Amino acid sequence: MTARRPLVAGNWKMNGLRGSVAEVEALASALQQRPAPACDVMIAPPFTLIAQFAHTTANTGISIAGQDCSALAPGAHTGDVAATMLADAGATAVIVGHSERRQDHFETDETVNAKAHAVHAAGLVAIICVGETEPERDRGETLDVVKGQLSGSVPDNADAVNTVIAYEPVWAIGTGRTPTTDDVETVHATIRECLVTRFGAEKGNAMRVLYGGSVKAANASELMAVANVDGALVGGASLRAADFDGIIDAYR
Ligand code: PEP
Repeated sequence: MTARRPLVAGNWKMNGLRGSVAEVEALASALQQRPAPACDVMIAPPFTLIAQFAHTTANTGISIAGQDCSALAPGAHTGDVAATMLADAGATAVIVGHSERRQDHFETDETVNAKAHAVHAAGLVAIICVGETEPERDRGETLDVVKGQLSGSVPDNADAVNTVIAYEPVWAIGTGRTPTTDDVETVHATIRECLVTRFGAEKGNAMRVLYGGSVKAANASELMAVANVDGALVGGASLRAADFDGIIDAYR
């Protein structure tokens, strides 16, 4: 069994102003003053805060990610942001294929795959999100949907260094609802099986698979203890340092 260092990543979505750096400073201070967690810690702020947060978190053990990027190289694409620009601003990773991007911006597996390629080409880590909607779950299609998204969204050059998978059931995002630990275990085991089948045992067992969807301090330990759950992608509960640190506690 390959040892995988867990990752707890906070997705700030479209939240945060320059003054929000106070929460990042508070988190950095908590990480320094409390026992060091046995996990990596990451924050994905909106584009506008990446450079500031990267500066603030230098040498704190917190890394910074983008929430999306263009699949294209820099050029005449008004409003888009290239992966190389995120790297230049201090990001080390980019979330791609978040369900809010798939739903609100009609991103397909093909788009997500192309974005992950751009992330890799910029030397960054792609955090590739997959997960079923509630109607898909109700129809018993969860495993087929997740397998299809993995196969279409994850590029062939993915490995444990350049790629992290995040399983986020869409119906659990921002709703306060979570799957049972048995359901999380089943989906994560299926994801692991897909990764091993496609990339071989060494790479497939080394890739981290995060769970996301209404993770909070009260349920983090239980969810993080599930087999093949290698950390969390956290939305709402990552905005306040105390809440996020309470989730990181699962690894102290
Ligand atoms: C997310 O948006 O990635 C997420 C998991 O959100 P929340 O934790 O708020 O459900």
